[in-house]
Amino acid sequence: WAKSDGKAKWALFDPERNAREVARFTLSATMPAAIERGEFYLDYQPLVRLSDGQLVGAEALVRWRHPEFGLLAPDRFIGLAEETGQIVPLGRWVLREACRQARLWQDRFGSRAPFISVNLAVRQSRDPGLVADVAKVLADTGVEATRLQLELTESAVMGTADEPLDALRALSAMGVRIAIDDFGTGYSNLAYLRHLPVHELKIAGSFVEGLRASAADGSHVVDARIVGTLVSLAHALGLGVTAEGVETEAQARRLDDIGCDSGQGWYFARPGPPDQINRLLS
Ligand code: C2E
Ligand code: MG
Ligand code: MG
Ligand code: MG
Repeated sequence: WAKSDGKAKWALFDPERNAREVARFTLSATMPAAIERGEFYLDYQPLVRLSDGQLVGAEALVRWRHPEFGLLAPDRFIGLAEETGQIVPLGRWVLREACRQARLWQDRFGSRAPFISVNLAVRQSRDPGLVADVAKVLADTGVEATRLQLELTESAVMGTADEPLDALRALSAMGVRIAIDDFGTGYSNLAYLRHLPVHELKIAGSFVEGLRASAADGSHVVDARIVGTLVSLAHALGLGVTAEGVETEAQARRLDDIGCDSGQGWYFARPGPPDQINRLLS
C-alpha cells in the first residue's frame, strides 16, 4: 500500500507514518467482514424545529465498534472507505439500518415520527445502482419516501456530470428529500443551485460557532452576517435551512430570530441510541 511516489521510501523509515499506514490498511482490509459481523451501528441525532422546539427529524451517524481499536468515529474510516470503494456496501448497510429504525418510529409515533436523514458519500452519489438501492430499501422497510432525507456535500452535487444529477432528480421525484450538508464549506455555484433538486441547506457548524463568541477581531459579527445571508439565500430559493453545531441556548435563539428553520447540536441532544429519540417523543 506504499504509494509509488517519492514519499513511499520515507514510509519505510518513518515508524509513526508506518504505524498509521498499517492501521489504515488493517481497517480497510477488515471492513467487509466487519459489516457481516455487525461491528457497525448508528447513533441518531435530533433535528429540531427552532420556532417551537419540536423534534422533526433524526440524522443517522455511523460508528464502528472495532474489536482491536475500540470505538471509531466516522472521521477515522469514511474517507478510507471512499478511497477503497467500500463506502458503497457500507453506505447500503447504513441506509437499510436507518430505514429499519425509521419504520419502527413510523409505527410507534405515526405522523409525529421523525424523518430520517442519511449521509451519502460522493462515491455513493455516483454509484449507478443508487436509485434502485434506495427504492428497494424503502419498499422492503415500508418507509414512506417523504420520510427519507439524503445529505450530500456540495462537491457531490456541484458541477458534476449528468448521471448523478439524474439520480438526484429521480430520487426527488420519488419524494425523497435532498439536503446539502456542511453548506458554505465547499464550492457552490449559486446560479446552478437553483436548478438542482435540493430541498434543504444545512449550514456548517463553523459558521454557527460565531453566533455565540465575541472574538476580539470581530469575526463573530462576520459569521452572524454570513449565517443571516445563507438563511435568506435558502429561503429565496424556496429551500428549508438547518443550522448544524448548535451548542448554546443563545445560538438557538439567534438562529430562530434570523429565521433559520431547524437546528441540530449538543444544545438539543448529542447523537445517541434510538431510545433517546423515543424518550424525547414520549
Ligand atoms: P455531518 O454529517 O456534518 O454530521 C454532523 C457531525 O457533527 C457529527 O459528527 C456530529 O456528532 C457532530 N455534531 C453534532 N452536534 C454538534 C455540536 O453541537 N458541536 C460539534 N462540535 N459537533 C456536533 P460525527 O458523528 O463524528 O460524523 C462526522 C461526519 O462523518 C459527518 O458529518 C458525516 O460527514 C460523516 N458521516 C457520519 N455517518 C456517515 C454515514 O453513514 N455515511 C457517510 N457517507 N458519512 C457519514
Ligand atoms: Mg450530515
Ligand atoms: Mg454536516
Ligand atoms: Mg461535517
